[in-house]
Amino acid sequence: MPLSALWYPTDKCFIDGAWQTPASGATLPLENPSTGQIIGQIARGNADDIDAAVSAAQAARLGEWGRMPAFERGRMLAHMGRIVLAHVDALAEIEAADVGKPLKQARADAVALARYLEYYGGAADKVMGETIPYLDGYTVYTLREPHGVTAHIVPWNYPMQIIGRSVGAALAMGNACVLKPAEEACLTALAFAAIADEAGVPKGVINVVPGLGHEAGAALSSHARINHISFTGSVPVGTLIQKAAADNVVPVTLELGGKSPQLVFDDADLEAALPFLVNAGIQNAGQTCSASSRLIVHRRIHDQLLERLAARYRALRVGPAMADLDIGPLISGTQKGIVAGFLAAGGDLEIAARGEIAADTPASGHYIAPTLLAGVPHDHLLARDEIFGPVQVVIPFESEDEAIAIANSTDFGLVASVWTRDGGRQMRAAKAIRAGQVFLNNYGAGGGVELPFGGIGKSGHGREKGFEALYGFSTLKTVAAFHG
Ligand code: NAP
Ligand code: MG
Repeated sequence: MPLSALWYPTDKCFIDGAWQTPASGATLPLENPSTGQIIGQIARGNADDIDAAVSAAQAARLGEWGRMPAFERGRMLAHMGRIVLAHVDALAEIEAADVGKPLKQARADAVALARYLEYYGGAADKVMGETIPYLDGYTVYTLREPHGVTAHIVPWNYPMQIIGRSVGAALAMGNACVLKPAEEACLTALAFAAIADEAGVPKGVINVVPGLGHEAGAALSSHARINHISFTGSVPVGTLIQKAAADNVVPVTLELGGKSPQLVFDDADLEAALPFLVNAGIQNAGQTCSASSRLIVHRRIHDQLLERLAARYRALRVGPAMADLDIGPLISGTQKGIVAGFLAAGGDLEIAARGEIAADTPASGHYIAPTLLAGVPHDHLLARDEIFGPVQVVIPFESEDEAIAIANSTDFGLVASVWTRDGGRQMRAAKAIRAGQVFLNNYGAGGGVELPFGGIGKSGHGREKGFEALYGFSTLKTVAAFHG
């Protein structure tokens, strides 16, 4: 799978500006989830590779990269963005084969990666300090400085977007990065390294070490010479990462998913809401941290809305990524097993509708028909836990207070939306809902590049995206000068 004019090996690490065989010499199989077939091998990086990558990143910080003016870093990122745009189709095909995304969704991810690089390229020279009024005879100002070496542990669900938002912002601030992609989704991370190389990013600034979470990932998060960790993934691994960060006293950003609700009041514009209600749940086969997996619906419109939701579900088509239908396979047999387990645990619930797996879909792929469940008690397992599959639950409510209470009844707090024409209710709900992002009469799964994004509670802490991410990838120094 060549990246057009660019070329990169899929079974190597990218360390210190060079494609390197992993220290162990070992590889891991690369599966195409649409077919279940092994389509290649990736490097099984270990602690030695991580150590080499951290050393290369440290050296890069002390070299040309550390001295580069912010506008030149920004120009380099913008150049990377243009290279990404020139290779959108190739990147989409690689991602579709590797993680099973329908082509148009993979394409959207590649375009989003370019957008992050543009955005953070433009922002690099606009992060400024302040002057602070202080005692007579003093001038006090603040400097925003990079942490140094930043670690990026990325999941398999949106590799390009998550690399763009996290590595893009870290580079804009002048950090040097070590990236550990998920073992199921390394190819576009390696392509990102090839693109950085093509754009002239100095060696050691971007290092990519594929491998297993408990090997390469654990070695990276516990490495004594990293200065910041950015992690996106599950709550149990996020907990381990935070413990590892505590041992070395480094800051950590955790983005751990959610159980994001959409509240639909009886005065809502249902015609406008319908596509958002369904798409936000089934996009990327529901394997989205900001997936809207709970639809909390006023009883007065419940039955008519349920019928319209069910009609949409029945029209959904599932198939191989290359067939570019509404929904592709799940990432792996393991993930399919997790989702099937949840559905079995919801055996007592009413199935309002299911989508259809296309007739010629390979039986060896990891497909699950999208499933809409109705009349679900808000404290049911399927209404509380993150399923990470194409499953939505519909929960009825009677009053505004009850709707808010249900929305806030899980351990998570990532994204929410409120559908109502009542302006007062919009404002009340936006304040009362515990979440990092609230959308009023729309739902942007994760929002745009410009919008700060992150959670509260078990959804994690710290903010990515927007300008806010640049502050997270920097540290503030206060300079107090006495001049009399
Ligand atoms: P995960 O285990 O949390 O993986 C996320 C990243 O952490 C991957 O790069 C993984 O590497 C790495 N990792 C795993 N164990 C590690 C360790 N001990 N130390 C350091 N890094 C480690 O997530 P998953 O197993 O892929 O998915 C399981 C569940 O997590 C899903 O069902 C879903 O509920 C949730 N999830 C959430 C998000 C999100 O966007 N918030 C994304 C993915 C999954 P390897 O994959 O190579 O082992
Ligand atoms: Mg794969």
